[in-house]
Amino acid sequence: MTSSSYLNPKCEVREHPTNGGCGVFACKRIAKGELVSLWGGKIIRREELDPSMPRFTQRVLQVDEELYLLTAEEKEPNDCFNHSCEPNLGFTGQIGLVAMRGIEAGEELTFDYAMSDGEPYDEFDCHCGSVNCRRKVTGNDWKLPELWQKYAGYFSSYLARRIEKLRQ
Ligand SMILES: [Zn+2]
Repeated sequence: MTSSSYLNPKCEVREHPTNGGCGVFACKRIAKGELVSLWGGKIIRREELDPSMPRFTQRVLQVDEELYLLTAEEKEPNDCFNHSCEPNLGFTGQIGLVAMRGIEAGEELTFDYAMSDGEPYDEFDCHCGSVNCRRKVTGNDWKLPELWQKYAGYFSSYLARRIEKLRQ
């Protein structure tokens, strides 16, 4: 079966003992700005979300106000990107991830769920270990002004629009 998502061939999935069982890692150097992932799937409305489905948080990504992307039922490598409060990837559009800096082979590829989540469908206690760890990741983290600066240009499009409104 062919994948419905795109993953840069310089990446691979490896087992991750803690974070959801898997993670995506760079196996070759990735340059700043390079496209790393494009998720494919089906667009569903908020009322169609079913948190009881297997792998719910791996398969669901908020892409706009009350709209979500649901990835394929069969597990894909792109389902394995983990959250970090000090990530090396950021969003391009609503379904793409690009490198925010040069990434060395062996590094885990992560994004901050604050870049994509504007509703509380995937909240959890964070143990990412970074100095700036927020400890709790919530659907309101996109409102933190320090993140606006840190992730300028890397928020999912709909959150960038929300932030623009709050700033006015
Ligand atoms: Zn953290």
